[in-house]
Amino acid sequence: MDEFSLIRKYFARHIKRPDVILGIGDDAAVLNSMDNHQLVVTTDFLIDGVHFPETTSPYDIGHKALAVNLSDLAAMGAEPAWVTLNLALPVVHEAWLRDFSEGFFDLANKYNVQLIGGDTVRGPLAIGVQAMGWVPEGKAIKRSGAQVGDEIFVTGYLGDAAMGLMLAQGEIDLSGKSAEVMLRKFNRPEPRVKCGMMLRAIATSAIDVSDGLAADLGHILEESEVGAEVYLEDLPLSPHYKNKYMDRQDWDKVVSGGDDYELCFTVSLENASDLKKQLASLNLNCTRIGRIRKQTELQLIDGQGNDYRVNAVGYNHFSGSD
Ligand code: ADP
Ligand code: MG
Repeated sequence: MDEFSLIRKYFARHIKRPDVILGIGDDAAVLNSMDNHQLVVTTDFLIDGVHFPETTSPYDIGHKALAVNLSDLAAMGAEPAWVTLNLALPVVHEAWLRDFSEGFFDLANKYNVQLIGGDTVRGPLAIGVQAMGWVPEGKAIKRSGAQVGDEIFVTGYLGDAAMGLMLAQGEIDLSGKSAEVMLRKFNRPEPRVKCGMMLRAIATSAIDVSDGLAADLGHILEESEVGAEVYLEDLPLSPHYKNKYMDRQDWDKVVSGGDDYELCFTVSLENASDLKKQLASLNLNCTRIGRIRKQTELQLIDGQGNDYRVNAVGYNHFSGSD
């Protein structure tokens, strides 16, 4: 199968948005812009064996490649519209392509996102996705907006994905429902798109938690030039995590495990009650975990009121190199 029939068969089959004048098939896509809005653009690379274990199913790879990008748009408060897909494939394996594109399009269709172009080459398996979306003028949620006194919130549960990775790598032994839930959280993160759009009117800053809460909240603090205290006992843990793993002394997986793809954001005290109302319609749990303070640095406080020191830091591709 040649490159062009491959593209036609697996990637040119999707919803058609009215703002796409020319999609896949020409030298470039042509898109209509949106009045009084700003375009938000993000891109993420997924490398075989680095961003997903080699045993990951093609469906999950397709889902995750898109999900991590939609998660970045969500953290900006953007409504996703279009994506491009760059694929390096070692071989043309039709069953793999079918499952990969199914994972990709099941998620794309859910959020009315259209694939408008890309590139397909031969090489070691790697997937680059670029996602584009819209925010009303001046309404993007930045990392730099947190104010002293703001409350800090996080969506969903933390830590399950980190356990899912360990399960996928055979580093822990667990089966049954809990294993299923944690593996799913790791392989099929759900980008918090609707929550992010809702937060435009409420949050002072936001980030998506991809490298662990401590590292990512740390980015908000740095960009906002503030500090924070976070109460470990308040961090949201799934019932599965609590049952199976929670050794009260060890919070490392929860605060620095990574791959959660939840939103961490700050809200002024006045807006915190509004948040509760808005969240009720989203069917997504959201937990207050601490507050922003003037004194810089992130202080993690355990149940006894003691400082907790993180032993592991967020994942860094170039840590240890010059
Ligand atoms: P060109 O050589 O002009 O760059 P290509 O032959 O690479 O064009 O691609 C032909 C068309 O197919 C273009 O519209 C391109 O955006 C699209 N395309 C190529 N690979 C992909 C892919 N993996 N997913 C979606 N569209 C793709
Ligand atoms: Mg090309």
